[in-house]
Amino acid sequence: MRRPTPRLEIDLAKIRHNTQTLRRLYAAKGIHIMGVTKAVCGAPEVAHAMIQGGLTVLADSRIENIQRMRAAGIAARFVLLRTLPSRAEETVLHADISLNSELATLERLAEAAQRLNRRHDVILMVELGDLREGILPENLFSVVRHTLEWKGIRIAGLGANLACFGGIRPDAGKMETLSRLARNVEEVFDLRLEIISGGNSANYDWFSQTGLPGRINNLRIGESILLGCETLQRRPIPGLYTDAFRLVAEVIELKTKPSVPQGVVCQDSYGNVPKFEDRGPMRRALLGIGRQDVIPEGLSPEQQGLDILGASGDHLILDAKTVPLRVGDEIGFRPNYGALVAAMTSPYVTKKFINA
Ligand SMILES: *Cc1c(COP(=O)(O)O)cnc(C)c1O
Repeated sequence: MRRPTPRLEIDLAKIRHNTQTLRRLYAAKGIHIMGVTKAVCGAPEVAHAMIQGGLTVLADSRIENIQRMRAAGIAARFVLLRTLPSRAEETVLHADISLNSELATLERLAEAAQRLNRRHDVILMVELGDLREGILPENLFSVVRHTLEWKGIRIAGLGANLACFGGIRPDAGKMETLSRLARNVEEVFDLRLEIISGGNSANYDWFSQTGLPGRINNLRIGESILLGCETLQRRPIPGLYTDAFRLVAEVIELKTKPSVPQGVVCQDSYGNVPKFEDRGPMRRALLGIGRQDVIPEGLSPEQQGLDILGASGDHLILDAKTVPLRVGDEIGFRPNYGALVAAMTSPYVTKKFINA
């Protein structure tokens, strides 16, 4: 049987294993994890592997992905990581919980919930310095006060997100701040917050070094489950598979050519003016995969001795040096997070699930 390329091979047994290992690791200090499915576009196969790994809560930034998982029969509590005010009603319909940082959106959610005769849970995101989403700590009490006045929504907890936009490390100080805010809210408003969600895959170092995690009882974990690493330095986490995903492309041309293009250099297909170093004649392999399928800079060839020279929209060019290759051969790559997201999102990349 012909195997189409480009092809992303997804080992579900490895994802199951990573999920279970991380679930146990974090549970040892009282932390539940949500499995984050956005990088795989809510692929039900991957969601199912996370459920088999013992998770009961899945989180995604897109309503479409949550709908896709629900439609496939994935039984979980679903969390929407990014709430669009224009889609408050769908948020209430499809997500059990949503993360929020704006009163205007919370109000729309409350209205939608009342209209639909439902109760919707919200986690209020607090800004701890990474400068993506979050209510400024000095405004938190006022947001809580308003939110408590609205029927239809319930404050399920507080959350914070670090190491995403600003690259800020989630350390003991940041986590203590979140714990303290949670305790203060509970005290001042005489309520119990169910979920204190301290962050994402970047919280691994903090978690490993901390004795007691304070009020933090939840993390939202995507990349560690999928790629087996923490995300501050991208170091592998002991006991996890880092090779659950493999991207495969095929050699469509193999020739020895000069290392410097001949003629007058102008813009390339993406508007950059390329520079080349003369290294003499070079054995070049042209692969049938490009920027429309993946982020080439995020690929590492599996085979030793292959270097990526560059890519255009649908071709990738390798320096094949002395690696024995033939036209039609398949070449495997390990994708980083960005390359994985792009490959999952490209309709041109076939997804092949193995070890279901
Ligand atoms: C993407 C995302 C996560 C998961 O991050 P990973 O680094 O993949 O663990 C967690 N929380 C929020 C709000 C996110 O957007």
